[in-house]
Amino acid sequence: MSKSAIITGASKGIGAEIANRLNELGYNLVLNYRSNTSSMEEIIESFTNKDTKNIIVQCDVSNYDDCKTLIDTAYENFKTIDVLVNNAGITKDNLLAMMSEQEFDAVIDTNLKGTFNCCRHISKRMMKQKYGRIVNISSVVGLSGNAGQVNYSASKAGVIGMTKSMARELGKKNILVNAVAPGFIQTEMTDKIPEDMKAEMLKNIPLNKLGSPKDIADAVEFLISDKATYITGQVLSVNGGFYM
Ligand code: NDP
Repeated sequence: MSKSAIITGASKGIGAEIANRLNELGYNLVLNYRSNTSSMEEIIESFTNKDTKNIIVQCDVSNYDDCKTLIDTAYENFKTIDVLVNNAGITKDNLLAMMSEQEFDAVIDTNLKGTFNCCRHISKRMMKQKYGRIVNISSVVGLSGNAGQVNYSASKAGVIGMTKSMARELGKKNILVNAVAPGFIQTEMTDKIPEDMKAEMLKNIPLNKLGSPKDIADAVEFLISDKATYITGQVLSVNGGFYM
């Protein structure tokens, strides 16, 4: 029987790569994005496995009611949802002394509250089906902190705390909840980082290169696979040794 998964923020970068991978694995997909419709459509067109059903739900994950619609739509189309990947995320970097309330709130609302919103709405349904794999995409800076990212690191540290609490609540119902903490991965998000800063960062990465979205898709594939059935409440770092 084919499995189904929801991926938020699937229109580009890491989310798009996770979508590709789950398509290759035969998953039916519910793909969410916020603004980039053409990019989302291109991702689906590029899928190599044409035997799956894919639906697109455009919504802003920071909106509680929109996330309910996302989850409801998923269950209207597929009897069960096996996997939820909370990947949608943004940065609005600034030094603490310069950071606006809007910059702080926007990042917390998308990265932290967005993860809560989707988990909240899917939790009862996954408990009822007595099966679920939730993977929350955190970040290395949620573990290490980073100057200029007070908002972002707080949101990603929050995701880790939330992951552990949810793992404790949902384990009895055979729902595993884990986080992946990527290091610096080559996407539009990191394209914004100035070259001199990137060069400086590379000096601190033992593997001496940025990661690729495929590295994160590999971690997600493992965590949702039958090879990870006794793993919950964990943070899997995928960072080239940048933070240990
Ligand atoms: P990108 O900026 O390349 O892509 C972000 C995706 O999230 C897009 O599909 C975007 O949709 C979607 N998105 C953003 N805000 C919302 C929202 N409010 N509601 C729904 N969808 C939204 O980011 P990455 O691929 O680099 O990052 C993916 C995840 O990985 C994020 O959570 C990020 O924090 C995390 N991460 C990334 C790292 C990196 O080095 N790249 C390192 C550590 C963690 P659209 O474009 O349509 O608006």
